[in-house]
Amino acid sequence: MASPAEFRCANCRAPIPSEAINWTTGLITCPYCGSIFALPVDLRKALPAPYASLVENRKVEPCKWHIGIELGHFAANQTISVNSQYTELRCESGELVHSGWSAEWGQSDENGAFRFGVVHVGTGYYHYTFSDETGNQAEFHLRTTDD
Ligand SMILES: [Zn+2]
Repeated sequence: MASPAEFRCANCRAPIPSEAINWTTGLITCPYCGSIFALPVDLRKALPAPYASLVENRKVEPCKWHIGIELGHFAANQTISVNSQYTELRCESGELVHSGWSAEWGQSDENGAFRFGVVHVGTGYYHYTFSDETGNQAEFHLRTTDD
């Protein structure tokens, strides 16, 4: 594993100091060029803290995106709850929706991992919070555009 000290900005290639990494959200703000990007999944896996990492964001047909988020380091065999807060431009109706929902989504495996999959029918800003019954929590922010 590369230590955070050797980790470089995805945009300007400057070395990223560990204080530029938000370990809760997994987002990095480059102190040199101001780019914001996500901590790579292999680095998140090396940490003991629960994480949520984007593994799929794919337009599968007009107005339909498959979103996959991988969770790790949660408690084993626990119910995973999802809270979503979003601002979405629905592509069929053209409606701008600010809303949210919460649901028990499934169960983590014996390693504390979970794969969350959802379909988006619009573009916008999405904030997901994942939690298990023991209080482990990880967040993921996603901004999508139609291109
Ligand atoms: Zn940079």
